[in-house]
Amino acid sequence: MTRGTALKAVPFCYDPPYPGTVPRSPAMAAAEDYRSHLPSLTYRNQAFIAGKFTAAASGKTFDCISPIDGKLLTRVAECDKEDVDRAVKAARAAFDKGVWSGVAPAYRKKIMLKWVSLIEKHKEELALLETLDMGKPIANSAGGDLPSSIRCIQWYAETCDKVYDELAPARPDSISMITREPIGVVGAVVPWNFPLLMASWKLGPALATGNSVILKPAEQSPLTAIRIAELAAEAGIPDGVLNVLPGFGETAGQALGRHMDVDMIAFTGSTEVGKYFLRYSGESNMKHIALETGGKSPNIIFADIPDMDKAAATAAGGIFYNSGQVCTAASRVIVDEKIKDQFIELVARHAEKWRPQDPLDPKTQMGSMVDEAQMDRVLSYIDIGRKEGAKIAFGGERARRNTGGYYVEPTIFTEVKNSMRIAQEEIFGPVLSTISFKDDAEAVRIANDSIYGLQANLWTRDITRAHKVARALKAGTVNINATDGGDITAPFGGYKQSGIGRDKSLHALEKYQQIKHTYIQL
Ligand code: NAD
Repeated sequence: MTRGTALKAVPFCYDPPYPGTVPRSPAMAAAEDYRSHLPSLTYRNQAFIAGKFTAAASGKTFDCISPIDGKLLTRVAECDKEDVDRAVKAARAAFDKGVWSGVAPAYRKKIMLKWVSLIEKHKEELALLETLDMGKPIANSAGGDLPSSIRCIQWYAETCDKVYDELAPARPDSISMITREPIGVVGAVVPWNFPLLMASWKLGPALATGNSVILKPAEQSPLTAIRIAELAAEAGIPDGVLNVLPGFGETAGQALGRHMDVDMIAFTGSTEVGKYFLRYSGESNMKHIALETGGKSPNIIFADIPDMDKAAATAAGGIFYNSGQVCTAASRVIVDEKIKDQFIELVARHAEKWRPQDPLDPKTQMGSMVDEAQMDRVLSYIDIGRKEGAKIAFGGERARRNTGGYYVEPTIFTEVKNSMRIAQEEIFGPVLSTISFKDDAEAVRIANDSIYGLQANLWTRDITRAHKVARALKAGTVNINATDGGDITAPFGGYKQSGIGRDKSLHALEKYQQIKHTYIQL
């Protein structure tokens, strides 16, 4: 791989093949195939409960708008409390009957792998739905989101018959068994930035461990979730085991969070809403709550970096990928003051390549924001940054206005102080704050001065410094000379207000299971 082709950022969540790492990779080829699906594309737009598509009990729908051009794609069932009740009943009945929770793990694996093969078969259609629904480039949907979602569910399917229970080292006159049981009915509430992938991170381990699931996709991006539930039924996942309820957070999401017969919520989204779920749980049945929430990841650039151009290209990709709508977005570059000007200039040069283009063009690197509200939110933060006294070194404006879609230029702020709102708050857009430091201690202090602790990155050629700083950083993932390392085998989650629990890897299985101790006196 030549220098330059390998430099593009790989988001936190992708498994190989990474989009754009080789010229016209299989990912690009997949992206180019999408056009053949456009004429025949249909939108499943109802709830999926007990193995059937159904309208919301109220008959209400909401508009599903494509952010690419602001046009209506379809109207989607707007589920609410009554639909949550119906789905929970179906999920509980399936769980209690043991049609999934009580079958041989190898059988679950077989059905899940069949589901994987159906998702694989429909991957271009799903990639296209993802791009139309949330505005990410087709090369990313086809080359990143789809292969990574497929790999995730496949990986967890494989765990079904490979993870063992334990015997405790108890007294010789006893047997002390530690067994794992599915937790029951799981509500999975997910965001819109990687709609299918975030759903897969929940569905893979939750279903592999035998639970029944009710998935509530974000209202901005419900289409792929609905479609894969249909494919799950086709694969043989029994009715009621996987239900999908499109709808709004304050209604459907809250009803799920407060339901007395939901045993667990697996949530990915903002820190603010994550805290709501803790409250819902406390005010209802004390259901288990796992949270993957926000981030404001530091990207520390020491003066001895091995390759400044590579670090700058990765810094640009680390914030501009997916229009910055990434929980691990490397949104704070914390750079040694000795190389600050040179480094920022290089990042700005790379930012040029991230100007938003048509998401349906396979060559596009950056697409739109997810919707108008998110675009307005990001633009308002750019305004806040200006008013706080930071300077814009690149971008700073809305783009492609004439398309009717919602695009923002890649934006770089200089002269940022870590106390400013643009350095403290999660903007969730393509906006980079650059901050300088004088010594290692100051770099660490600035990096840790955040309510978040999802991911941190550092660049140095000094192995001792790398280890010392990595230990001092309060984050669930620390990348050294990279921004988004780790595939499905690595646990992912946050310190501080970035979450509770871990997604990905075998560790994710733990949260979907109860641990039972059975003691036998011999
Ligand atoms: P969000 O918190 O607004 O919404 C997430 C989900 O919660 C959606 O399904 C939404 O409908 C639902 N929801 C919203 N309000 C609710 C309420 N009052 N009660 C119950 N449910 C409610 O987040 P978002 O805007 O969809 O996504 C962006 C956020 O997600 C960012 O903060 C980002 O950092 C975070 N995120 C975290 C990770 C991670 O793994 N840590 C990954 C991706 C995104």
